[in-house]
Amino acid sequence: TARVIDGTAVARRVREDVGRGVAQLVAAGGRAPGLATVLVGDDPASEVYVRNKRRLCVAAGMQDLHRHLPGDVDQASAAALVDELAADPQVSGILLQLPTPRHLDSDALIARIPAEKDVDGLTTANAGLLAQGRPGLRPCTPAGVMALLDEYDVPLAGAEAVVVGRSVLVGKPMAQLLLARHATVTVCHSRTRDLPEVCRRADVLVVAAGIRGLVGRDAVKAGATVIDVGIHRGDDGLVGDVESDAVAEVAGALTPVPGGVGPMTIAMLLANTLTAARVQQGLAD
Ligand code: NAD
Repeated sequence: TARVIDGTAVARRVREDVGRGVAQLVAAGGRAPGLATVLVGDDPASEVYVRNKRRLCVAAGMQDLHRHLPGDVDQASAAALVDELAADPQVSGILLQLPTPRHLDSDALIARIPAEKDVDGLTTANAGLLAQGRPGLRPCTPAGVMALLDEYDVPLAGAEAVVVGRSVLVGKPMAQLLLARHATVTVCHSRTRDLPEVCRRADVLVVAAGIRGLVGRDAVKAGATVIDVGIHRGDDGLVGDVESDAVAEVAGALTPVPGGVGPMTIAMLLANTLTAARVQQGLAD
């Protein structure tokens, strides 16, 4: 049965490293990094995510510069807030919690975030840097998956990697990060003809489709490493996109939901915020 990839433990170590990095930055006369989470409205799930990000930001020694806008805020006022945060030297990183209410153009708001404060890695500039294989801030969830694969010494060079999902937030940057590590990458999406057949190629299978139970045992090669990015709230608690009990019988390693990719996403957000602060203070390594 598959080895359990313990994202909770790896995330804790990453956060401890970030905490040490923050302390060093401050001891060297730098400013503690500041994270500005921006929440528009009061969607309960988004509120929980933002609360966790703020709590762990403070625990790592960073400044919590959270801002809350009413759900009926207009585009110009939201844009003005992003511009204010962009200009504020206390603010190292800006995170616009998605999704925003439908009347707002979130792409236009993200476009106002300076690339060096874009700790979610979602601006066109950072996406371009990733596509070109140049340094930049990487989207947190795929960066967290890479950290898990490295922590568990999963070989990537020459490996068959299959990514299910092609979103700007997860699937696409995930494919590019795997490609940068010399995996042979296949990207599947809603129009892929025979999903199980393609997935069975994978030595490393990353599933980020947002469909509960999409990947079953028939889609997994014996011994494969399976990373389940999906999160669904069922009556039975949180579950992912992978039929975990059945897949655990064939996979070599598997991330649980919860306790897999989820905690890594926040840990990488904190790591990105520290990196951003170091770069802004001229202390980039
Ligand atoms: P999305 O809806 O933007 O993208 C889903 C992708 O899956 C699309 O590219 C689509 O083409 C593909 N897809 C849909 N149906 C498919 C099918 N039948 N076969 C193959 N591909 C299919 O979602 P997203 O933002 O990329 O998130 C995906 C999932 O990951 C969601 O469940 C989300 O909640 C979760 N998520 C988790 C974290 C985390 O921290 N663990 C972070 C972000 C997203």
